[in-house]
Amino acid sequence: MGSFEYELGSLKPDEVEIDVEHCGICHSDLSMLKNEWGFTRYPFVPGHEVIGKVAAIGSMVNHLKIGQYVGLGWRARSCLVCDQCLSGHHNRCLKGEDVIVGRHGAYADKVRCQGLWAFPLPEKMNPKTAGPLFCGGITVFNPIIQNNIKATDHVAVVGIGGLGHMAIKFLNAWGCEVTALSTNPKKESETQQFGAHHFLDTRDANVLKSHRNTFDMILVTSNVDLDWDTYVGALRPGGKLHIVGAAPQVKASVFPLISGEKSIGGSPIGGPAEILMMLDFCSRHAIEPVVEEFPFSRVNEALSHLESGNARYRIVLNNDFKKSR
Ligand code: NAP
Ligand code: ZN
Repeated sequence: MGSFEYELGSLKPDEVEIDVEHCGICHSDLSMLKNEWGFTRYPFVPGHEVIGKVAAIGSMVNHLKIGQYVGLGWRARSCLVCDQCLSGHHNRCLKGEDVIVGRHGAYADKVRCQGLWAFPLPEKMNPKTAGPLFCGGITVFNPIIQNNIKATDHVAVVGIGGLGHMAIKFLNAWGCEVTALSTNPKKESETQQFGAHHFLDTRDANVLKSHRNTFDMILVTSNVDLDWDTYVGALRPGGKLHIVGAAPQVKASVFPLISGEKSIGGSPIGGPAEILMMLDFCSRHAIEPVVEEFPFSRVNEALSHLESGNARYRIVLNNDFKKSR
């Protein structure tokens, strides 16, 4: 990946411009960079876990101030008038715009979005670590809300990377009994520090088979094909296999879904109300992503580090170009 210059044109009345200071590396940035999903437009600028200060404000935006710290995640715009937006599901709006789809993202000095999607950073939140909350964080917080997860529920998290480690922190603070399902036993002690009560090494296919009817929700953050029937079997009756990792496909038997009233589904990031709820929840419970810092100038090294599976647990890039100018 190299650098280039581009103009953003005139600011739309409902937009804000953010001076990027920090930006997380989500696995989706890597998948988009490699066009794994088939809709990347080059030249491509990744970056959608942004923290920065508001640099310009359109005439219609009146809830933000110049110089204020904001966070921006995957979504950059929603239409505000469709049935989804009107029911609070702006994240599902079919006429929406995403930060790195068909436009340039935030591994850049500046990025823009509709004012709605730039969220003021709570006072005590650390700007250096908060970026990953705005994509990875809300992506795993939203299923807790959408599935009405209770403090008495037992939830398993599959894949302990950027999303997975934040999921464990959220679910522990929510009061749940939390099980980490990982292919890397070296992560066991850290998952306990994040709040997991149990750890299962899923490289042994039989491990999960001995946990039938155990979990109220299994939250899948890995992006690989799994033995889906075994995972459905590990759900309690009424349980949900909730997929947020971009696995290629799901192939599962229908009969256990019928007899156990189990379901399989997925979700993108949350809506604006859920994002505010998550920020408040993080402030109250002192939840902070665990990050490794790299400067923008070492972005290629940082991307390889994520690809190698060695990132612990989310990489955040710092904009070092700004200072050197
Ligand atoms: P990440 O940091 O790379 O973590 C992914 C984790 O998946 C790894 O840490 C690993 O955990 C597990 N994994 C990797 N290879 C595996 C394998 N062969 N078998 C089983 N597990 C494996 O990625 P991330 O940023 O958390 O993103 C995870 C996925 O969510 C990506 O597909 C990303 O595109 C997607 N995503 C979706 C949304 C959404 O809106 N739905 C939002 C953000 C990201 P263990 O070492 O513990 O096994
Ligand atoms: Zn993301």
